[in-house]
Amino acid sequence: MSSKGHEAKAARIRELLETEGDAVATNTRGFNTGRYESVAKLDDYQRLRQEAREIKEDAIERLPELLEELTETVEANGGTVYVAEDAADANRYVAEVCEARDAERLVKSKSMTSEEIEVNDYLQARGVDVVETDLGEWVLQVADESPSHIVAPAIHKSREGIAALFNERFDPDEPLETAEELTMFAREQLLERIKGADVGMTGANFLTADTGTMALVTSEGNARKTVTVPDTHIAVAGVEKVVPSVEDLQPFVELIGRSGTGQDITSYVSLLTPPVESPTVDFDDPETPITEGSPDREFHLVLVDNGRLAMREDDTLRETLYCIRCSACSNTCANFQSVGGHAFGGETYSGGIATGWEAGVEGLDTAAEFNDLCTGCSRCVEACPVKIDIPWINTVVRDRINRSGDAGQFDFLVDGLTPDAESGGGPELQKRLFGNFETLAKLGSTFAPLSNWVANAGPVKGLLERTVGVDRRREFPAFQRETLVDWFDDRDSRVPADPERKAVFYPDVYTNHMLVERGKAAVRTLEALGVEVVVPRAPGAGRAPLSQGMIATARSKAERVADALGPYVEDGYDVVVLEPSDLAMFREDYAHLLPAEAYEPLAEHSYEAVEYVYGLVANGADADALASAGGPASVAYHSHCQQRTMGLAEYTVAVLEQRGYEVTTSDVECCGMAGSFGYKEQYYDLSMDVGENLGEQFRSLEADHVVASGTSCTDQLEDLLGDPPRHPVELLAPDGGD
Ligand code: SF4
Repeated sequence: MSSKGHEAKAARIRELLETEGDAVATNTRGFNTGRYESVAKLDDYQRLRQEAREIKEDAIERLPELLEELTETVEANGGTVYVAEDAADANRYVAEVCEARDAERLVKSKSMTSEEIEVNDYLQARGVDVVETDLGEWVLQVADESPSHIVAPAIHKSREGIAALFNERFDPDEPLETAEELTMFAREQLLERIKGADVGMTGANFLTADTGTMALVTSEGNARKTVTVPDTHIAVAGVEKVVPSVEDLQPFVELIGRSGTGQDITSYVSLLTPPVESPTVDFDDPETPITEGSPDREFHLVLVDNGRLAMREDDTLRETLYCIRCSACSNTCANFQSVGGHAFGGETYSGGIATGWEAGVEGLDTAAEFNDLCTGCSRCVEACPVKIDIPWINTVVRDRINRSGDAGQFDFLVDGLTPDAESGGGPELQKRLFGNFETLAKLGSTFAPLSNWVANAGPVKGLLERTVGVDRRREFPAFQRETLVDWFDDRDSRVPADPERKAVFYPDVYTNHMLVERGKAAVRTLEALGVEVVVPRAPGAGRAPLSQGMIATARSKAERVADALGPYVEDGYDVVVLEPSDLAMFREDYAHLLPAEAYEPLAEHSYEAVEYVYGLVANGADADALASAGGPASVAYHSHCQQRTMGLAEYTVAVLEQRGYEVTTSDVECCGMAGSFGYKEQYYDLSMDVGENLGEQFRSLEADHVVASGTSCTDQLEDLLGDPPRHPVELLAPDGGD
């Protein structure tokens, strides 16, 4: 992306933060909090997730067979099934049905698939009046805007904004103001339109192959009216919506509302086996009992492929087809919470999983527009009711986008300075620079302190912003001339006489070259607890290239890390890691990058540093060998995203409390920096917007100590608070005099 491209993207994000940010933040955070509360009431939440996952895995595996069965049952029920190859094919079929029924008006309940195929535009161009009946969708139709969220499409609009829109557009006798007034007004308007409709269109959350039943999960109930009032019903659904049987619906009904909007159950769960048997209603003849009407109905099920069958054959995109479109991955995502789906979304889909959908149904170019907004923090994986590895889908698509690009005019420079394992068009310059940070860190240490002066000199920052898109408002962290490994090599051996454990302390790039003091503190802490520590020379874990979608480079680093640490693991050493994002590489991401025989031992024997301290103390090590608060002292602690996702934040709290500190853990889940994300010119404002929630909380705490576990969080907190936080282990380390 050119400098102008970065500036344009930054401007668009700033505009959305200004105009839509508040409404999006309030609503998504409300949904996310509701999700935590609602799933906590379930004794068997994890079992339900596993069950739902297995049903989807099975359904996609047997998709051709299930589609055949579904077709047979729907036809036996009296309906018609049409499998549409793409959007144009689906639209043509729908238009033909409308034409055959002389339809002047079609009413719709909410359906993402119908938005994907843009059926509204297609029908309206052919003279059919298409009316959305979902309140949010109708508001957007009136406003002529696009959805910003897959479940709550008008989440970006405030009540005041909707009132102004309705008052201007409909000029009611009394101006509308309250939520109740607006809802009642919309209800009356929509009822009139539904009464006069010739065709009703729905989507389908699930379709059961055994009975031809469709499950519609809604908040308003207009889907039922859409199905029962007109005599012709068209359901438009992606082929992936089929599940084997009605019994399979149970875990999904339990999970979908809780995951999406935090409701224990959504207001309406309609199970319909169309064509429905209720007679149609003649609104012009209210005297005749409904039971005397005719159940003469037509039902057309349009199953949309539009790239899905190809996604099924794609090792990575296949998992996208398990998605039940609950929106939990959007609501839990810090970037989405700030900027919403108008930035973090493509033609139809928004949020974390949108990359998979848009890459599959629209193509890489569309996915490329917003894919970088996923920072790979992995919170969404825990939120997803079907356990989709959304960050990995985003990473693989990013890699494909990189490979489809052209080499930029300055790429030869980066290639010379920081050779990597990428091939094809290659990632853009900005990604290559950040993806190869390890090489820059080595140069930075070699030439420190000169490198620090140069990197932060005004003209250099201006040049970096113009050429690479590194935001000039960020200070680069200082490189240390003496790395952690050098320090360790130069000091006298401190091997305890009778060591409790043997540990290899992994010198991640940031600890080794920049935050050396925290590394020294970790080594001293482990030694104080009777551990024999070694700090070997080891390559970077590959987090930096992986975050840029440079999978080949990340894999090559993973292989070298496994070569460096594997012999220690074989020899009975534990691996202790300070940087949570690198620990997540060892425990999770390496599963994608290494063969099982290399990945599994490393994953099994790797520990976060304070988690390891906790384990040592719990197993009898003398905690009093560590430093303590020495009196009343409060700590504001921010745990790293991936540390939270791995469930490791609690160990730090427990150890700090054991040493006498009063600890408050931030309830803001993300600092907003996310590695290089917050350094990028196009994302600086978003990064600071996300981070400000954390800054506000920590400023109000006025704690004696501010500590953070990750490098990114450390950098961001320094920018937010003015002073750099320390790592928790620095409060624990006894003074070693070295
Ligand atoms: S990926 Fe998972 S969390 Fe996101 S919308 Fe789909 S089912 Fe929900």
